[in-house]
Amino acid sequence: AGFIGSHLSELLLTSGHSVTALDNLSTGTTDNLENLSRHSNFKMVQGDILNPGDLEGPVGESDLVYHLAASVGVRYVIDNPVATLEANTHGTSNVLKAARDLGGKKVVLASSSEVYGRSPNLPYNEDDILFLGPTSIPRWGYACSKMLDEFLALAHWKESGLPVVVLRLFNTVGPRQRGSYGMVIPRMVEQCLNNQPVTVYGDGTQTRCFGYVGDVAQAMADIVKVPEAEGQVFNLGNDVEISIRELAELIKRLLNSSSTIEQVPFETVYGSDFQDIPRRIPDLRKIKKYIKYNPQTELTQVILDIAAELGRKNPTEIRG
Ligand code: UDP
Repeated sequence: AGFIGSHLSELLLTSGHSVTALDNLSTGTTDNLENLSRHSNFKMVQGDILNPGDLEGPVGESDLVYHLAASVGVRYVIDNPVATLEANTHGTSNVLKAARDLGGKKVVLASSSEVYGRSPNLPYNEDDILFLGPTSIPRWGYACSKMLDEFLALAHWKESGLPVVVLRLFNTVGPRQRGSYGMVIPRMVEQCLNNQPVTVYGDGTQTRCFGYVGDVAQAMADIVKVPEAEGQVFNLGNDVEISIRELAELIKRLLNSSSTIEQVPFETVYGSDFQDIPRRIPDLRKIKKYIKYNPQTELTQVILDIAAELGRKNPTEIRG
């Protein structure tokens, strides 16, 4: 019932699969399932990956597990450090054990570009050294827990042959993503729709590459059809780089907004124990060797789609 899971479920159902969603509805919401509930092959089970018993039914009756159940967004991670680490460590451990014990089900693990930390080696390659900061910075705890997830998944693959595929998702965007967990595009779109100041954290020279959730979901559906991808780690996202200042200007222009653009120090938003990532670009050569992957969806189109969705959902609140 989360952002990426709901898009992936839609795609899988349209391709003729049956989908069971397991979600504790902590950050996921049944609103995201509006398009799904009309499918007779879709089932939502409310449960928690921290309870092994909740996994038995959904994992036992499925051929394939997409493990996307994790804490989401820099804001959420900072505000909920214990829940974040517990879900990403114990939760993932439970999911992998259930997949192993209930018939050796293939697991696609959603990891994160955060594992690269502040690596200066651009673009980020799957085999590169990872650069995390000190344990006093909660952000690196999230990165470290995602690294542990990867180690665990690959350990299951080595030890018992459990078919696993690890995907390092880079900034994924699209309709249904919520700004309340920190994500920059829905936040800036809402600010522009409301003609409120657009908040650029830091000096805005930091860069990101934004991947459209539809392209990412398609790749997630395609990669499981390639047996050689088992036991492998892949970057997944888009490699078109944009600075956050440029992003703010683009969104303002596209939405014809009278918002001002304001710089806010990182410390004001996230406190003193925060470090940002100055540049982040994926090397996509590996995934392109395994599947046909050529993300074409333009960022401008994604921004307009998000604005249409946010404007529709909450017209009075958004438009003031
Ligand atoms: N950011 C920003 N204004 C916002 C929210 C985020 O300038 O209102 C910045 C944030 O500091 C980071 C970039 O945009 O440099 C991407 O932030 P997001 O939280 O979406 O993703 P992540 O930091 O995990 O890549």
